[in-house]
Amino acid sequence: MSIIENLKLIKQELPQGVKLVAVSKTKPVEAIKEAYKGGHRVFGENKAQELAAKHEQLPKDIEWHFIGHMQTNKVKYIAPFVHLIHSVDSIKVLKEINKQAAKNNRTINCLLQFHIAEESTKFGLNLDEAIALIKSKKDFPNVNLTGVMGMATFTDDKEQVRREFKQLHRHFIFLKENFFSDDENFKEISMGMSGDYKIAIEEGSTIIRVGTKIFGARNYPTTS
Ligand SMILES: *Cc1c(COP(=O)(O)O)cnc(C)c1O
Repeated sequence: MSIIENLKLIKQELPQGVKLVAVSKTKPVEAIKEAYKGGHRVFGENKAQELAAKHEQLPKDIEWHFIGHMQTNKVKYIAPFVHLIHSVDSIKVLKEINKQAAKNNRTINCLLQFHIAEESTKFGLNLDEAIALIKSKKDFPNVNLTGVMGMATFTDDKEQVRREFKQLHRHFIFLKENFFSDDENFKEISMGMSGDYKIAIEEGSTIIRVGTKIFGARNYPTTS
């Protein structure tokens, strides 16, 4: 199946209001161009320099999402154009995003990444840390917090995955009610990848991040 056919199949089943980020990490620009030809405009990468290099080579109406672990010294590469950073997990990185956004005269949209998986290797905040971060937000006027993100455990146990997505949804509702009740921008729940996006949608996802199911298996593993 071609990239365009894969995209079409996934999009056919997407409910209204769920956005598909095509995760193109490690894939060549030719693969992205093919998806682009098929009408897709939203792509995600997990390495800042790789994202910047692809942005440079590709049409400028692409909406770029950063989904990897954000290192402070890499924010500058994507700050001029990135649409959404999914993976804010510290005040330190939020501060740097604010600084680089101000330099570029823009406001950058960010999601708070929660640790919902059992694996200890995955990055992310717990609820207390997220609250501390939200309270510090007033110091960072060039950042817009628009929701939450999380990755479920990599497991065949669908009920566990579902529980973890439910947990992320509950965190979202708690933060919405307590800190963003009159902020219509805080509305996104980024969850769901190739293996679990259908469950994620059932549990309230508004953004799914799908790589393998569109572009095929990656040749080498990446750490994010
Ligand atoms: C790689 C990656 C994805 C996409 O994973 P697939 O299983 O290939 O769909 C989604 N989210 C994040 C954070 C990733 O690093």
